[in-house]
Amino acid sequence: MEMERSNSETIYAEACEHIVGGVNSPSRGYKAVGGGAPTVMERAEGPYFWDVDGNKYIDYLGAYGPIITGHAHPHITAAVTKAAENGLLYGTPTKHEVKFAKMIKEAIPGLDKVRFVNSGTEAVMTTIRVSRAFTGRTKIMKFAGCYHGHSDLVLVAAGSGPATLGTPDSAGVPKTIAEEVITIPFNNPDAFKTAMDKWGDEIACILVEPIVGNFGIVEPQEGFLPLVHELAKEKGALIVYDEVITAFRFHYGSAAELLGLEPDLMALGKIIGGGLPIGAYGGRSEIMDTVAPLGPAYQAGTMAGNPASMLSGIACLEVLQTPGLYAELDRLGAMLEEGILQSAKKHHVPITINRKCGALTVFFTEETIVDYDQAEATDGERFGKFFKLLLKNGVNLAPSKYEAWFITSAHTEKDIQDTLVAVDLAFAELL
Ligand code: PLP
Repeated sequence: MEMERSNSETIYAEACEHIVGGVNSPSRGYKAVGGGAPTVMERAEGPYFWDVDGNKYIDYLGAYGPIITGHAHPHITAAVTKAAENGLLYGTPTKHEVKFAKMIKEAIPGLDKVRFVNSGTEAVMTTIRVSRAFTGRTKIMKFAGCYHGHSDLVLVAAGSGPATLGTPDSAGVPKTIAEEVITIPFNNPDAFKTAMDKWGDEIACILVEPIVGNFGIVEPQEGFLPLVHELAKEKGALIVYDEVITAFRFHYGSAAELLGLEPDLMALGKIIGGGLPIGAYGGRSEIMDTVAPLGPAYQAGTMAGNPASMLSGIACLEVLQTPGLYAELDRLGAMLEEGILQSAKKHHVPITINRKCGALTVFFTEETIVDYDQAEATDGERFGKFFKLLLKNGVNLAPSKYEAWFITSAHTEKDIQDTLVAVDLAFAELL
């Protein structure tokens, strides 16, 4: 039975007349999954969405990652309500930003100082500026398929959104800027060594998603990141970890700590805002003191550190301190992974799943996925069909083969079981 979608279609048609492309972020469109009107959501609570046609979904989009505690978590809602009652924006220092900075420092080793901004894009963009100011160099290195926001320098070979749209280099990014960016494949020690031999002395920073989230969940292979750290140190390049997706995702802290590595600078976002706009960056004092007003690297923001985002972020981290929360994400993640694999086997659909704790990606291939080229080669058309079938059966994913499914602390075993029923129906109809 087809689902009722007429309200979504009407609203999207109207959106297209007033909002460019009908969406406020390109990845929200359904272009990469065979087209059609994206589902217009009306309400969200816990692990569920309700759309404008009254359909209910189990949600694994998690707003592209921030919503790790589930939608409308009561503790976060109460904090944001209180923030609104006390005035949303001051433009002065507040005690909340100090409390939140301390909380983040306690959770993540190596952050002597932090600065709050409004998005992951801003956080990464500023770590590049700070790295350039600190080292006096201009080039940066990044890994193919990794997305670090939409600032000029990092929109080169940039992962899920741009890759899905087939525009790895955005129009409007000057060639001269792209020439400052060296892009190499992830998990490829030889390519990395060759690039470092050639350009190592000119590189201000190497941008690393320590556990990749932007061409699907992809972990670094044994020894790869230690090599990156070793050669960066030898050549005087800084290491910047983009932990916008990974921080507080797999445990209460950074992916860096899980991997036993310490970058020079770190960019944060998503989860730390509890659903409100946020970004942050931080690192050792000697580097962070390059930032204005102490140093010559300028960065500012009218909305930066606003009370609502701070209080929402504090409340979110408080929830994430619940004992056993991450173990449960991992348990439900394993159950979902196992169930999807079994169902795919039953229906003879070749898939590979990469999973870390409550985040996983289903790739339509039998190959192991360790870099972007492999992720790109997976069957996007089949993913598109799978996506639409799941939607019809009440499960909402990100509309891109490169994105992760995010389990939240609001999902229950029953939600996973219901999801697996929908997955089984989808695989049965897929071939
Ligand atoms: N870095 C990573 C790893 C991301 O996944 C994203 C967004 O998806 C960003 C940076 C940009 O963050 P924002 O969308 O908040 O600007």
